[in-house]
Amino acid sequence: MNIDTDRLRRDLQENAAFGDVDADEGVGRTVLTGSEADRGVRERFVDRLEAAGLDVRVDAVGNIFGRWTPPSCDPSAAPVAFGSHLDSVPRGGIFDGPLGTYGALEGVRAMQEADVAPARPVEVVSFTEEEGGRFGVGTLGSSVATGKLGVDEALALEDDDGVTLRDHLDRVGFAGSDAVDPAEWDAWMELHIEQGTRLTGANAGVGVVDSITGITNCEVAVTGEADHAGSTPMYERSDALAAASEFVLDLERAAEELATTSEAAVGTAGKGTIEPNARNIVPAEVRLQLDIRDVEHETMDRLVERCRTSLARLERNRGVETSMSRYRDSPPSQMADRCLAAADAAAATRSVDALRLHSAAMHDTANLAAVTDAGLLFAPSRDGVSHSPREWTDWDDCATATGVLAETVRSLASD
Ligand SMILES: [Zn+2]
Repeated sequence: MNIDTDRLRRDLQENAAFGDVDADEGVGRTVLTGSEADRGVRERFVDRLEAAGLDVRVDAVGNIFGRWTPPSCDPSAAPVAFGSHLDSVPRGGIFDGPLGTYGALEGVRAMQEADVAPARPVEVVSFTEEEGGRFGVGTLGSSVATGKLGVDEALALEDDDGVTLRDHLDRVGFAGSDAVDPAEWDAWMELHIEQGTRLTGANAGVGVVDSITGITNCEVAVTGEADHAGSTPMYERSDALAAASEFVLDLERAAEELATTSEAAVGTAGKGTIEPNARNIVPAEVRLQLDIRDVEHETMDRLVERCRTSLARLERNRGVETSMSRYRDSPPSQMADRCLAAADAAAATRSVDALRLHSAAMHDTANLAAVTDAGLLFAPSRDGVSHSPREWTDWDDCATATGVLAETVRSLASD
């Protein structure tokens, strides 16, 4: 099978023209659900799918499916699906998402041109709003498709201006009525840029992801007492920020310790507020948002436990009151053995050096892994930069990883 690098590059460049932004360095785009740019990328994608002879369907939340049903296949057999997303973060890059969607389409075209005769239908997919850029819900489209989020609940989501997902999809003409259930797929594959530097560091052409980290989010409140910063002696204070600072250092220490046995383990206190947040008042309350990730759910639980222990100690030693709620817990996802084996074999077939790694970022594939056999490939990212116009993957690297993707799907769809 031959991947046409120029055709893939043209697809990605023409896709990138929708929502393009001025950037001092690099090429960027903003494609939020329901914008004119979103309409443009969707219409062009459907056009390209149809030009390749695929049968296009659109579901209620605007997920786009293009099915190839060659004469060699049993049309009623469970399809092998692959794809990614076409939306972006504000001022995002041109590869994050589109490489996987247009890479899947290029994979089908390569199979067609090489007269590959799959036994199963092959499905090219673009999921709506993976980035959560409009509605703040990441992997929105795949969450609905896999039953994790209800259709009506999703359509009723409102953006910052009170406009619903339903209205945005109506406006761009992508509120579809087709029902597609990924649980009925034989397997799923996604190609995505790495957004890290492990592949370039190892000089590998493709990453074969074996697991996607889970994410736990917690809100922590540390409550002390507001007092005059001049007239309150140090021994009489209950300083919420000083206590919260100890907590943040405890979290860092605990994550560092756990990472010695589970190296993907990370813990971050990335967002916080101080009340009353005045220079001359002892802080009364600090609220922190925590982000805890690992490929082992048990490690995430232990990190949360260490946070609770830290807070209990602060209550004893510093006289503050504390609370912590774990308001989100997405467990880690494991990729299917047969998808990993097919990807490894595909890389070997195409003489591409493959590196096994985990994904520290969330992807639609995490949702798919809950309902079918799933696999995820990474293409090298220059300097690991993403979500920025400086995001870059060389065209040859795009084509190399796309070749491994196509070969993997060819193999999965062959029996
Ligand atoms: Zn992405």
